[in-house]
Amino acid sequence: MSSAEKLTKLREITAEISRLGSIQALLEWDQQVNMPHGGAEDRGNQAALIAGLAFDKSTSDELGALIQDLASEIPDLDADDDFAREIKVAKRNYDRNARIPREKIIEFVLATSAAHEAWVKARADNDFASFEPHLTHIFELRRQQAELFQPYEHPYDPLLNEYEPGMKTSDVRAIFAALRPRQVELLRAIAESEQIDNSFIKQHYPFDEQRKLGTFIAGRFGYDWERGRIDLAAHPFTTSFGVGDVRITTRFLDRDCMSALFSTMHETGHALYDQGLSPKYYETSLGQPASYAIHESQSRLWENLVGRSREFSRFLFPVMQMLFPQHLGNVTLDQFYRGINRVEPSLIRVEADEATYNMHIMLRFEIETGLLEGSLKASDLPDIWNTRMQEYLGVTPADDTNGVLQDVHWSSGLVGYFPTYALGNLISAQLWEKMVAEHPEIPAAMTEGDFSQILAWLRENVHRYSSRYDPLDLVRKITGGPIDPEPYLRYLNAKYSEIYRF
Ligand SMILES: [Zn+2]
Repeated sequence: MSSAEKLTKLREITAEISRLGSIQALLEWDQQVNMPHGGAEDRGNQAALIAGLAFDKSTSDELGALIQDLASEIPDLDADDDFAREIKVAKRNYDRNARIPREKIIEFVLATSAAHEAWVKARADNDFASFEPHLTHIFELRRQQAELFQPYEHPYDPLLNEYEPGMKTSDVRAIFAALRPRQVELLRAIAESEQIDNSFIKQHYPFDEQRKLGTFIAGRFGYDWERGRIDLAAHPFTTSFGVGDVRITTRFLDRDCMSALFSTMHETGHALYDQGLSPKYYETSLGQPASYAIHESQSRLWENLVGRSREFSRFLFPVMQMLFPQHLGNVTLDQFYRGINRVEPSLIRVEADEATYNMHIMLRFEIETGLLEGSLKASDLPDIWNTRMQEYLGVTPADDTNGVLQDVHWSSGLVGYFPTYALGNLISAQLWEKMVAEHPEIPAAMTEGDFSQILAWLRENVHRYSSRYDPLDLVRKITGGPIDPEPYLRYLNAKYSEIYRF
């Protein structure tokens, strides 16, 4: 086979793996959105079949040999060109997939399936002790997986790298060490200020109007309805079956009119990224988004930097007043803006506001690294959790259901994932600073409901690169530096000192 033929064959296999991934996503979307309960068992079998096919394809000797041959023909795999990068990423994906023995994969799938079931029950019964052995087992299996990727500085590195290629535990530690005291200080200043009234949010808003509003805003941000749709699901998410079909889900809460709207803005941010990935790299090994943190930077940018800004409130509030005159007729724009930005240390991560969110992530990161290092035991968790919640946020959960048992991640084997949420926050502020410096007219355009410049900038600087660059390289290319907590801290301090008047 000539090199050109090998490359064609490689792309054929990569495209098939990508299509199997899309089929799997479609099965999951249907399960969350449409499937009756009775379909669960068959759906599980169907998903397992597709997952097995994808695994076999992505770890086959044929694929390994092709990548090996092509890699040996490239003088420098780190070269800054499309071809070297394509082979480098293909090689990295292959090495990651093929290094874990098949029986260990099966053991892990069985362990997480049992752990998930145990977690659902433990959470409902507020019974951490019954989940503890599963947690210990999951972390032990993750530690064993990490060991297959030696050498590393820290056993957490290979796990983190599944989500953030090139990122090290020491990088995250340094970033969080800079962030922690400043965020604690900000929260103290907010706590000492007069609390803001947001009771106008906590009423029943008709779901039909809420749905119209979410649809309107998503379209206004630039979500392409020819290549997408919004459905209802218990947990909001975004999923993609290819660049021509990127879907969002949402859900409505009875006594919180902003929750569905912000979550739709968030998912729209994810979806705009997926809709903007480059057709040039489609279905190749560079066809994926750059990383989880980059993905999250997109959702957070639209939800927070745009959606919770004073400028956007000027556009949004009159629209909402028209839709909900009886709820908002007597509310002023200033009350609205401050109300939707009320800070309240909460026990639950997914309900956390911008000022407190990262603290929830730091706690989880400390626990994950502690369990992997062996400096913590699973049985220590409820105590550690409650002590640090008090230290970081000034609140202590009354029970483990609202504490250490709240997240699904660990029971699903997602260890190393949490930092991507906080990194996404930091990157969103870095991108925003850069964007507005280049286009100072953006804030004024937002008050008019014009977001075209924002989307165009993100398309140009982030979306179209797919995974042509590793996340840290992409951030450096755009901002000239590493992931940096300063822009986010500047943003939080400026925003909340004005809202809370300190
Ligand atoms: Zn997200």
